[in-house]
Amino acid sequence: MIPFSPPRLDQKTVDEVSKVLLSGWITTGPRTKEFEVKLSEFLGARKTICLSSATAGMELVLRWLGVKEGDEVIVPAYTYCATANVVVHCGAKPVMVDINTKDFNISVEEIKKNITEKTKAIIPVDIGGLPCDMDEIMDLVQQTDVVSKFNAQTEVQEQLGRILVMSDAAHSVGASYKGKKVGAISDFTVFSFHAVKNLTTAEGGAVCMNLPESFDLDAVYQNLNVMSLHGQSKDALAKSKIGNWRYDVSEPGYKCNMMDIQAAIGLVELERYPETLERRREIVQYYDERFKQKEWAIRPLFEDEEKTSSFHLYLLRVKGANEAQRDQIMSKIFEKQVSVNVHFQPLPLLTAYKKRGYQMADYPKAFGAYENEISLPVYFNLTDDNIKTVIDVVIESVEEVIG
Ligand SMILES: *Cc1c(COP(=O)(O)O)cnc(C)c1O
Repeated sequence: MIPFSPPRLDQKTVDEVSKVLLSGWITTGPRTKEFEVKLSEFLGARKTICLSSATAGMELVLRWLGVKEGDEVIVPAYTYCATANVVVHCGAKPVMVDINTKDFNISVEEIKKNITEKTKAIIPVDIGGLPCDMDEIMDLVQQTDVVSKFNAQTEVQEQLGRILVMSDAAHSVGASYKGKKVGAISDFTVFSFHAVKNLTTAEGGAVCMNLPESFDLDAVYQNLNVMSLHGQSKDALAKSKIGNWRYDVSEPGYKCNMMDIQAAIGLVELERYPETLERRREIVQYYDERFKQKEWAIRPLFEDEEKTSSFHLYLLRVKGANEAQRDQIMSKIFEKQVSVNVHFQPLPLLTAYKKRGYQMADYPKAFGAYENEISLPVYFNLTDDNIKTVIDVVIESVEEVIG
């Protein structure tokens, strides 16, 4: 069976993790801090904090902004549930909007139509690793009519004076937009290092900060850091120093710090990430070469004059296939020992969001993208032979079902 997305872990990873395990310090400490600095360098961010997941990072940022009941946060209907779940956790309403036809990303036109006096944040998601239309989104939140609608209710919101843009960049480590890395554009950019992502720490995430100049990013970092550890004024490492045991708790915070064990994995991953990305690019080029010849294949966008993807997912679409046919094609692919996936079931298809009144019919483009989508394996250790097998099996299976 060709797996869908196994992590790239080897003896080097094992050695680095072993060093941490035997070092006497296994939770948040020197390796995590080193990983944060190296991520900032690589991603072009002014400041980065590592946490236990992207989900935790997104929620901490929304809490920092003071998002609460009565507020709205704009999210795409086409994403993983985490993007909207964090909004619900804060008691606010996720306002779902439809996507583009040229790619799987949130439509700026739709964002515009859905901004109200209650909108506190927008969460664009770089689906498959392709950056969203960031200039348009950053311009939109700074337009006079949009700014004048903004209703600041906390000190932070007052200081920002406009809707916050927090990118869900779970897929897009290393992607770029108009010469800038994803991580250097939005107010906050949140990355995921979950096991299936391009760069993994098993579980983990990072928040890159690029707020306007009026914000003291060291203070924002400090705030998020404290809130990731119960609101405790000192972390375990600081408390372990002589005579430094006493601490205070300023606010009942959360518990979502990254461990040095995880950071050790991440540091190995980051060091060889350029090579990882290059291999991913090669794989999608192989796929493109072959699927270009198939009239039924709608290939995903990876690159244009403005954007370069991180090649996270190969989101193949089968022209004309409906949901049942797509499922049938997938079963046939699995029967031939190749693992594939669907990214994503739009949120209105999920019980949690159906129950909250969201209807799939309101997002025709998201449904259209979902109903005939099949994600193909893309990962460093996928061999050239594997790629050929995947392509042959996919073509065979599609043609068996849609003729
Ligand atoms: C994986 C993923 C997340 C969640 O990342 P975690 O690190 O597991 O919290 C969020 N958004 C998208 C689009 C994802 O694919």
